[in-house]
Amino acid sequence: MLPVDQAEALILNTVQAFDRPEEIETVDLFAASGRILAETAVSSLDFPHWDNSAMDGYAVRFDDVKAAQTENPVSLEVVEEIPAGYQPTKTIQPGQAARIFTGAVMPAGADTIVIQEDTQALDDRVQVLAAPSKQGAFVRHQASFYQAGTPLLSPGICLQAAEIAVLAAAQCDRIQVYRRPKVAILSTGNELVTPDQPLKPGQIVDSNQYALASLVKQAGAIPIPLGIVADRPEALKSAIARACAQADIILSTGGVSVGDYDYVDRILSDLGATLHIRSVAIKPGKPLTFATVPAAASNQHLKLYFGLPGNPVSSLVSFWRFVQPALRKLSGRSEPWLPTYILAPTKTDLRAGGQRETYLWGKLSLENGRYAFDLASGSHSSGNLVNLARCNALAIVPVGQRHIPTGTEVQVMQVK
Ligand code: AMP
Ligand code: MG
Repeated sequence: MLPVDQAEALILNTVQAFDRPEEIETVDLFAASGRILAETAVSSLDFPHWDNSAMDGYAVRFDDVKAAQTENPVSLEVVEEIPAGYQPTKTIQPGQAARIFTGAVMPAGADTIVIQEDTQALDDRVQVLAAPSKQGAFVRHQASFYQAGTPLLSPGICLQAAEIAVLAAAQCDRIQVYRRPKVAILSTGNELVTPDQPLKPGQIVDSNQYALASLVKQAGAIPIPLGIVADRPEALKSAIARACAQADIILSTGGVSVGDYDYVDRILSDLGATLHIRSVAIKPGKPLTFATVPAAASNQHLKLYFGLPGNPVSSLVSFWRFVQPALRKLSGRSEPWLPTYILAPTKTDLRAGGQRETYLWGKLSLENGRYAFDLASGSHSSGNLVNLARCNALAIVPVGQRHIPTGTEVQVMQVK
């Protein structure tokens, strides 16, 4: 049994992040959400593109208005009106102003904006009732946010709303991103049926297929659900070979324990895979196979094989703890790849066996601005999916500890 941190390090060291030309694709900005940038985004334009007004008001020469007061207003001739998108035609001379609106280009000669609230319009003149705070007030200067040629975003970032807006403003309307990893999912077990089938005695619905497909999607990857495979070596061998041909990562559940029908490890060896991990000192999730399978083509990375335990809770915990970080690294995303941990006091006593790092599920919630961990009530059996549903966190009891009293701060892994 490998300790959890060693398993984590071994897995991450084995994963080779996407970086080859064939692992990069071009998308438009509507398809960019959640994708991982594969290039350095650079603007060919200054931003702002021109000096422009940050407010509705008047473009003036600061020297003309610096002494303006309510009792002693300054009267200026309004020579032009400049809405957004309009190119000014006049140069502001001493004693003149231009009516201007937010985002509109500053006219030549003017250096400052007087906000509308500090003025009174009178026919073709304006009274300035208060001096602006400084020369350049409310002017957004060309290139003050960034200059043309400045790198704006680097490879490895996950594109969200703000980054996509930056790309649009920089006119990078088609961008290079890493392709999404493909993840094949196999459920092994003679007892499994799909949810639409009536159950015969001894059968159970394959819930892992659907849970894992959802997690894979959430991680920004493409799930390839390959269905149920019987516990027969030949069936399993051809299913695994088929999965390896289609995917970057293969997830199977079940069949990795020490039972008579647990064939996965043996078949992986037959297929030329290298088995790196066979069990981890974690509860739930001790039987965990991690292997690399040689790729058919020389321009492809090794395939990563995760043989997860069949118990529904164990398979989810194994995914959150080991598969998700691997998927993050593979996808070209920059660190952090590991789950987010929060230190929070537990609202109940936590108990564990002491032999394995134990993950207990429950809810992390904010109470008066501070996090607290509330253990899910009911059975913590690794088959009890009902109990896991609506949990958002796993509290970790380290090896060697059997009891953590109420009120103690514990490490909590966020999973939703
Ligand atoms: P195994 O790891 O194959 O020994 O399976 C452990 C337990 O998990 C057994 O009770 C199985 O019936 C159950 N199980 C295995 N695969 C699945 C699955 N895909 N969906 C739900 N339960 C499963
Ligand atoms: Mg089984």
